[in-house]
Amino acid sequence: MGGIHTSSLKVKSILKILDEFYPDAKCSLDFEDPLELLISTILSAQCTDERVNKVTPALFEKHRSARAYAEVPIEELEQDIRSTGFYHNKALAIKECCKILANRFNGQVPPDLETLVELPGIGRKTANVVLGNAFGIPGIVVDTHVARLSARLGLTREKDPNKIEQELMALIPKKKWINFSHQLIQHGRTICYARKPKCSICPLRPYCDYGLDESTPKA
Ligand code: SF4
Repeated sequence: MGGIHTSSLKVKSILKILDEFYPDAKCSLDFEDPLELLISTILSAQCTDERVNKVTPALFEKHRSARAYAEVPIEELEQDIRSTGFYHNKALAIKECCKILANRFNGQVPPDLETLVELPGIGRKTANVVLGNAFGIPGIVVDTHVARLSARLGLTREKDPNKIEQELMALIPKKKWINFSHQLIQHGRTICYARKPKCSICPLRPYCDYGLDESTPKA
């Protein structure tokens, strides 16, 4: 832990504002079961959720089980997911992961973080997306938005996503973990851009280390 001191009043205020501005923030990937969400989340690496949602309806129609993904020729899978980018690695990750699900877990996605992160191509971020959204199991997803905004808001000084996750888990009440991730992601997509964040219209500005300082160069 980086030992950053953040007042609980500041955290409460940030959470309250996020609840007010983003009451309906949720996962923007389309899915109907844990396996579909797992596949979508793998596809969403370095790709927009919007693009993933264009590819998955046909993919999910074609493959209805972990066994089906495990057995499809990799070239065919690559073609079907090509537009999401990094399709070779993604196809490999999907196949390897589904092979294990089919052989060891009866085709089911295990609702358990420690087991999920042992699967090929599945890190804590993907595992937390699946656990939070398909099973309602609390976790904080540290993607690029959550990492950037947490730093700007002074909630962490860590750079490593796993350490950021640990610090945020210590600061944020557990019942808020899932929503907090969605809300920060939505704020990052709509206002707190990586380049030129819209600080002048940001409701979090009074609590933001980055936005408060007028002299801070807004990259
Ligand atoms: S004040 Fe600026 S940097 Fe801070 S959260 Fe808002 S948009 Fe982001």
